[in-house]
Amino acid sequence: MPTPKSRSTAPVRSPWYADGLRFECTQCGACCSGEPGYVFIDESETAAMAKELELSVAEFERKFTRPVGNQTSLIEYPDGDCIFLDPKSRHCLVYQARPIQCRTWPFWDSTLETPADWQDTCDVCPGAGSGQLYTLDQIEIRRREKSV
Ligand code: SF4
Ligand code: SF4
Repeated sequence: MPTPKSRSTAPVRSPWYADGLRFECTQCGACCSGEPGYVFIDESETAAMAKELELSVAEFERKFTRPVGNQTSLIEYPDGDCIFLDPKSRHCLVYQARPIQCRTWPFWDSTLETPADWQDTCDVCPGAGSGQLYTLDQIEIRRREKSV
């Protein structure tokens, strides 16, 4: 998954995407693979994934997470693929309990800051910029769910 960029204060009124943006996932798996990055998770996300996999939280943490500064991230395969990206099907193995960072992509602070940031996002995510139209409200609900 792309690594969150540092960001400045997000616009509050009339953001450049006020007319909405299109997004429809093609399930290509690109955002779960590629260059090394981070999928940051908190305690509730950890607990949800552990439950999905029928593991204790302690075992889940031992097997699938690593500390990054004062945060916790999922680990990756050596090639940068997320540890939960099935190598064969290329689908997420914890999809129903996937972290907020995954559920809210591509509507992050860092991808929406400017039209150029959104274009960069469209360049790496074939589903961004086409398909279903998300209204401003729908986008903002996702963007505000977590600061990414
Ligand atoms: S890169 Fe975009 S289209 Fe591909 S799986 Fe991720 S969200 Fe879906
Ligand atoms: S948890 Fe699932 S959706 Fe999130 S990066 Fe890993 S494979 Fe992709």
